[in-house]
Amino acid sequence: TTASQLKHADRSKVYMADLESALHYSLRVEVARAGTLSGAALSALKCYVALLAKYFPGRPFVQTYLQSLDGWLRNWTEPELPRNAWKEAVKNKGDAPHPAMLPTNVTWVGCQGSEPHFRGYPCSLWTLFHLLTAQALQGGPDKELPLEVLSAMRCYVKNFFGCQECAQHFEAMAAESMDKVQGREQAVLWLWSHHNEVNARLAGSDTEDPKFPKLQWPPPDMCPLCHKEESGVHAWDEPAVLRFLKAHFSPANIYPDYTE
Ligand code: FAD
Repeated sequence: TTASQLKHADRSKVYMADLESALHYSLRVEVARAGTLSGAALSALKCYVALLAKYFPGRPFVQTYLQSLDGWLRNWTEPELPRNAWKEAVKNKGDAPHPAMLPTNVTWVGCQGSEPHFRGYPCSLWTLFHLLTAQALQGGPDKELPLEVLSAMRCYVKNFFGCQECAQHFEAMAAESMDKVQGREQAVLWLWSHHNEVNARLAGSDTEDPKFPKLQWPPPDMCPLCHKEESGVHAWDEPAVLRFLKAHFSPANIYPDYTE
């Protein structure tokens, strides 16, 4: 990929292509890597797919796909799930008038890197889970099941995320403070602040795409009101950050397609 082939992406938008690519890659590549799923890995998978079926704001045929996959997994009551059965289950079922379809290609738009080994899937996984924490605000009272999304993410990352080092770092952060989250809004902010911790740790490292430097996010030009100063020291205005995250990761801000 050369710079001239980079798709135009607006960083103030979320792209459906990135989200669907995250779903495709997680379900059909990462999960399918294991030979047979059982125990904690099988529970993690059921939990992840149930969450997607509940909250992913997809196109109708993608929602049908996720709901039918969730139904299929709920009916799978044996202790082991062989890889072949899973590979069959994640195929598209094209029966009209209600096709169950998740595109089988990977297209990065907002997550496209300046080189193929930068960004892509890890970027889309963060985006997906931020979006799900925001969608879950509508899922019930704030204090009810505050960890619904975060614990599914924790289990997914621990059992399936291909970057082992990432998974260990994330599990350490989760073990330290995730249980203290007491509401759905706090869950949105927990993921935001811990993602910023990761950004700070990785700034200047060799996994950083030089065209997309790691920032404390959202930077002032994206959200001036998110930033304030307290006795000359930078501080976040958390209520403003929460408002920003709700708007940024809302279905209305998901760009359905892209033009080259
Ligand atoms: P990303 O950090 O992937 O962010 C994706 C998009 O989310 C950004 O483009 C921006 O729009 C938005 N965003 C950025 N910050 C925030 C925020 N604070 N809150 C909300 N939205 C935000 N890589 C390593 O080298 N070592 C690790 O230990 C490591 N751990 C990881 C753990 C997890 C759980 C995940 C999902 C990824 C991890 N990675 C790690 C990968 C790394 O965090 C980046 O995903 C990758 O380097 C690509 O970076 P990016 O520039 O595309 O932006």
